[in-house]
This record gives sequence, structure tokens and C-alpha cells, in this order.
Amino acid sequence: MDGDVITRPAVLILLGPPGAGKGTQARRLEEKFGLIQLSTGDLLRAAVAGGTPAGKDAKAVMDAGGLVSDEIVIAILRDRLGEDDCLQGVILDGFPRTTVQAEALDILLDETGQRINAAISMDVDDAAMVERISGRYTCAGCGEGYHDSFKQPDVAGTCDNCGGTEMKRRADDTAETVASRLEAYHAQTAPLVSYYQTKGVLASVDAMGAIDEITVALGDIVTNSL
Ligand code: AMP
Repeated sequence: MDGDVITRPAVLILLGPPGAGKGTQARRLEEKFGLIQLSTGDLLRAAVAGGTPAGKDAKAVMDAGGLVSDEIVIAILRDRLGEDDCLQGVILDGFPRTTVQAEALDILLDETGQRINAAISMDVDDAAMVERISGRYTCAGCGEGYHDSFKQPDVAGTCDNCGGTEMKRRADDTAETVASRLEAYHAQTAPLVSYYQTKGVLASVDAMGAIDEITVALGDIVTNSL
């Protein structure tokens, strides 16, 4: 990847159901544009692993494929967004997921004088998401994503990116929870597409194609939004 480093704090949002590739693409955009990937799912999983009060509250909801309360998620996001590295610009992956969260983000950004450069809807076929999610796993060392059917490492069990040999699967990436997660997406997150359309910052990509092609399409949108 070439590094087009941007000079002012941009805010990009990736919208899309579980399995759309938000995490994979956010990592690539982070590398290409010097933006910080900010995933509320990752922050919540760290809170669960660390046994924090928020993590304890969130665990059962996450295991069931529901949405963690706005209060917890907004507090976690606000803390992370306030850290110095986020001044180089952020790409939000998995946040906001409700209108309440979107409104809270608007208020937070007003306070810091930032604006949303683009909210990008990653459009996919629901039917394909179950297979995408239930086969995916990541390198425990660097987070590179793999898939049982679509993207295996060159050497089985060894990460192409960092050479790590420990791979992990998310506890909620099971066929049973995917249905709940998709349902939560359609009921609570999909309305954000029109929320951002009304604000004039919505863009969309067809996220069913090849990973590299989607990265190019997203990169063009990001470049044009800066
Ligand atoms: P993700 O890694 O984005 O797929 O998120 C994993 C799980 O964390 C979701 O299924 C939710 O239970 C929870 N979660 C992550 N982000 C949010 C959010 N913005 N609002 C509510 N729950 C969230």
C-alpha cells in the first residue's frame, strides 16, 4: 500500500451488516491513509477480556448477538476518541449502530470541531453473510483476517502478514448468532443510511466483489472526501 498521509483529522464511517468486510477494509484504509481504525466491537471485546464493569454488562448481549446499550458504547467510544492518536483522523468500524449513537457522535464532533467526511454504506447480500461470518478467523498477533473458504494463509496455520501461528475465532461468529446480528442490523442500524443521506455525506460501495476491488472503491471515496 502507498501511504497517502492526510493532514487534518478526518472522520470516516463504515456502515454495513456483520460480515460486510468493515473490519478488513478499515484495516486497509488505516494503513493507506494513516487513519486510526476505531472498532467498538474490538473495544468491547477488550473490555470483556479485561473484566471491566462495562465488559461484564456487555458480554451476555454480545454472546446473544444483540446490541450493547447505547450508554456503554458511547462512553467507550468517547474515551477512545479522546486519545491523542485519534487526532490524525479515524475510521469508525461498527459505530454508530443506532440513531442515538449517531446523534451522540454528532455532538462529540461538534465539541472537537470535527466533521464527518463520509459515511460509506457497504452493500451486501444478506444471504451470503452467514457463510462469510461462520468461516472467518484472524491472526491473534496482528489481526489479519482469513476465511475457511475464501482466504486461507499461504502456509496453513501461519499468518501471511506477521508469521504468527495463533489464529482465533470470535465467540459470536456462529451460525446461531448471525441471524440475531443481522436482525439487529436491519432494525436498528440500517436506518442510519438515510440519516447520513440527509446530511449529505452518504456514499456506498458494492461490497460483494473481490476484497482488493472494494479497497480501491473505498479509497476513491475517502480521497474525494478529504
Ligand atoms: P462487531 O465486532 O462490530 O461485529 O461487534 C460485535 C458485537 O459487539 C456486536 O454484535 C454487538 O453486540 C457489540 N457492538 C459493537 N459495536 C456496537 C455498537 N456500536 N452498539 C452496540 N453494540 C455494539
